[in-house]
Amino acid sequence: MRAIRSPYDGRLLAEIPDADANDLDQAVERASAGQKEWRLMGPAGRAAALRQAAARIRENADELARIDALDCGNPVKGMRFDANLAAVLVEYFAGLAPEAKGETIPQAGGKITYVTREPLGVVARLVAFNHPLLFAAAKMAAPLAAGNAVIVKPSEETPLSALRLAELVGDLFPKGVLSVLTGGAELGAGVCAHPGIAAVSVIGSVQTGKAILKGGADTLKRSQLELGGKNALVICPDADVDAAIDGAVKGMNLGWTAGQSCGSTSRVLVHESLRDRVVEGLAKAFDAVRLGDPSDEATEMGCLSTEGQYRKVVGYIDQAIAAGAVTAAGGAPENVPAEGFFVRPTLLTGVSADMEIAREEAFGPVLSVLSWRDEDEMLAVVNGLDVGLTASIWTQDLDTAMRLTDRIQAGYVWVNDSSDHYLGAPFGGAKQSGHGREECLEELLAYTEQKTVTIVPRTRKTPIT
Ligand code: NAD
Repeated sequence: MRAIRSPYDGRLLAEIPDADANDLDQAVERASAGQKEWRLMGPAGRAAALRQAAARIRENADELARIDALDCGNPVKGMRFDANLAAVLVEYFAGLAPEAKGETIPQAGGKITYVTREPLGVVARLVAFNHPLLFAAAKMAAPLAAGNAVIVKPSEETPLSALRLAELVGDLFPKGVLSVLTGGAELGAGVCAHPGIAAVSVIGSVQTGKAILKGGADTLKRSQLELGGKNALVICPDADVDAAIDGAVKGMNLGWTAGQSCGSTSRVLVHESLRDRVVEGLAKAFDAVRLGDPSDEATEMGCLSTEGQYRKVVGYIDQAIAAGAVTAAGGAPENVPAEGFFVRPTLLTGVSADMEIAREEAFGPVLSVLSWRDEDEMLAVVNGLDVGLTASIWTQDLDTAMRLTDRIQAGYVWVNDSSDHYLGAPFGGAKQSGHGREECLEELLAYTEQKTVTIVPRTRKTPIT
């Protein structure tokens, strides 16, 4: 049994068993049987079930948000947003179900060649701890819409809302089509190696993405990888400075996940002419953030989700200070509301591009400020890492915006904006931030296989052209 505790006050929330190899075999067997029925329901039937699932998520958004706030320490307001967003994404993929369609290829002599898209079979989705309900609900949607059965494995740290989700929507699908299995990396590895599972996709760290590819190699699993980043926000000399400061704060996703979002800004590269103004503005905004009980509606930022996260983030801050960085805001765990895993929004100056804090994902409320004078040198810093998930550019000059968006290596680039996702807009990483794109048609198609058919009519006397 795994004890699930609140990261805010340490109280025991639940004890959850880890699924073992036998549980996994049974889930795959049931998924495989249920998928045959689910597939035959066709796009319209599947879309109807998914729309009902979205409605139930929306009806229960408050309860789901409260579970997440208790379990992961993110403020309940942000988790209610997540529950409603999950419903929107489930509806979006319901609407896309008929788009898993094929094509015809012209042939001579009355032959016909056409291509259909079939579901893969059983798909597993391993998800991260930071948006527990959003990931569990939204990531089941595309493979289900395409006619697959889905096994969701929530993070072992924050499994509660995924279990509640299964209770709320499980009866809408044929038996076995949706399973939630709880457990950690060992279960994840079992999923990767299982011959009855066709695809394993993960939302997680770069290291886990590599383990998934290795673990799935013997069974040649398909996979989509949504991995980590070290996201840069670039402020050009002509930027609207106040808007850029607001954008950098928003880009941190402090009120959503205390900075524990893959797309969060963690490096600000500001032109040296604006550095002091930007540091002053960011420090002021960081100091004003009200930390508190994640279940309280008034809380602006919660705590980190696990002790491991807390230690990692504090370790990065300590390391940065030892290497010469200076805290312009936050830092020490003072003035926090409880014994929970709180870290104040922390602004580090005096950071150079070679420091660990400038190169590695801390995954928390820590923002490093680096300044630049030469555009090529700035781009070398932005692109000088193995990862490239998001970037944000602040300029009022269209040429500069076009030039920088072209040269920055990232899967998603905002100009004069940060953080926001847009329905249907592909989200995913360049370089080691991942493979594939989600929240868009490509996500649906990733859970299909093309089948090409050529038919030669033998009954006609004269060929038609
Ligand atoms: P994690 O990689 O530790 O775990 C993710 C999931 O994979 C969990 O369900 C975990 O149990 C499982 N897992 C871990 N090791 C495994 C292994 N060896 N084999 C199979 N499964 C394994 O990630 P986390 O700490 O939960 O989340 C934080 C990371 O996720 C950060 O790096 C963050 O950037 C990334 N993330 C990416 C996105 C994105 O869309 N790109 C979104 C959110 C989080």
